[in-house]
Amino acid sequence: MKSLTDTFGRQITYLRLSVTDRCDLRCTYCMAEEMKFLPKRDVLSLEELEQLAGAFIERGVKKIRITGGEPLVRRDIMTLMARLGRRLEAGDFDELTLTTNGTQLFHHADVLASLGVKRINVSLDTLDDAKFEKLTRRNRLSQVLRGLDAAQAAGLKVKINTVALKGVNEDEIAPMIEWAHGRGMDLTLIEVMPLGEIEEDRTDQYLPLTAVQDRLAEQWSLRPLAMKTGGPARYVKVEETGGVLGMITPLTNNFCAGCNRVRVTCTGEIYMCLGHGDKIDLRAAMRGADPQAALDAALDRAMLKKPERHAFDISKRGAAPAVSRHMSVTGG
Ligand code: SAM
Ligand code: SF4
Repeated sequence: MKSLTDTFGRQITYLRLSVTDRCDLRCTYCMAEEMKFLPKRDVLSLEELEQLAGAFIERGVKKIRITGGEPLVRRDIMTLMARLGRRLEAGDFDELTLTTNGTQLFHHADVLASLGVKRINVSLDTLDDAKFEKLTRRNRLSQVLRGLDAAQAAGLKVKINTVALKGVNEDEIAPMIEWAHGRGMDLTLIEVMPLGEIEEDRTDQYLPLTAVQDRLAEQWSLRPLAMKTGGPARYVKVEETGGVLGMITPLTNNFCAGCNRVRVTCTGEIYMCLGHGDKIDLRAAMRGADPQAALDAALDRAMLKKPERHAFDISKRGAAPAVSRHMSVTGG
């Protein structure tokens, strides 16, 4: 089998596949209230998503994360999950997982577990109803909490992803870690990344996790863990709660040397790096005469283009985002 290896010798084994740019929430750091979503015809069909995932599996990808937008708002998403679940069961790859905002989770948790999904990431930035509504512009916290209950009852291991936002959930970070660990869920904090135009200035939202960690260390013993995921997260064990705390610090800490992932949008564009604009159109390859060969060749081209490192900088107030596309386009 021909592997996916870039010019820096990094092997790509992890695909993050976005299945929609739509969402039922409007998190202020992620989207504007009035988002212009893609016309449906531009979005990959279920069959195309399956074919695409298959091409990556053939090239040695072992982990596939389905994301968005909100993946669970796509109507036929569970059909795709079921088809990928069959390949998972056959041993063609090792892990099928999902990042979700949790609002639709109570409908799907049981089925996800039955398809072989073992772990999911649920994004949740606050446990306060009013703050949740302000932050996501929708009143859905209780729905998310119901989803979490359903996921855990179905036996799914849940990791909570929390974006650290200055003056918004800053004071809730320690209580949320306690809450998550108390329920047997790990929690990972994320720094705001400059992706896509929003209505607010991200300089105002940016809270460096180095400062958060220093504050947490006054209260708890944080033991560094050697967990390596090939991604931007670093992990510590919180001795007092017994749980794992992750920190994703793209801005204060460079993590690119061990990068093992690529992202594909719901229109079939492969981005080799979250922090760069370079992309290759896989949909065109798939809709051509010899999809298999064209896809393979396009993936080879993508590997030649994967940059050595990202180019984020949030320090300039009022500056345009480093990358103009929203996280909901590339997938988190
Ligand atoms: N809708 C799903 C969700 O919220 O989990 C999946 C897609 S969402 C784009 C994936 C992750 O990206 C979420 O954890 C979200 O908080 C995070 N995210 C979105 N915009 C971000 C930004 N500008 N900086 C940092 N994280 C961001
Ligand atoms: Fe939707 Fe996720 Fe973006 Fe929030 S972070 S608006 S839930 S895609």
